[in-house]
Amino acid sequence: MSEAEQKSTQRVPVSKRLKLWDDGTQGVLLGTVCKSCGVHFFGSPRFCLKCTSGDLQPVELSKEGILYTFTIVRVPPPGWQGSVPYILGAVKLPEGPSITSEVVDCPEEALKVGMPMELTLRVGGKDKEENEVVVYKWRPRSS
Ligand SMILES: [Zn+2]
Repeated sequence: MSEAEQKSTQRVPVSKRLKLWDDGTQGVLLGTVCKSCGVHFFGSPRFCLKCTSGDLQPVELSKEGILYTFTIVRVPPPGWQGSVPYILGAVKLPEGPSITSEVVDCPEEALKVGMPMELTLRVGGKDKEENEVVVYKWRPRSS
């Protein structure tokens, strides 16, 4: 097999805050926990934003949370590749952080603040190397 034939497209995460496995079909959001005060963050701040400790540890965040607030977006940001209008929801995780992303698999009228949500992965487009870019979204929890 030539080198060109071996090169195949793969799934890549949209951000370093998303860890993928099983060929990009499974994934989890990455955060940070402060070992000093126990506060969780989405992403990796250099210092704890609450107690300023530098003793932070990477952690995998919950894939479920509660819909904290949502809005209907009718004018998308530049580069938006999804459909319009769409729902943007902030989901509060049990650990504390709230994470904002598109809400899918749910009509607008069925949304309720406080409803349980779960993380879902979708292919959101392709990068310059023709890799499929995996994005994270929220949907109503199935069970
Ligand atoms: Zn802290």
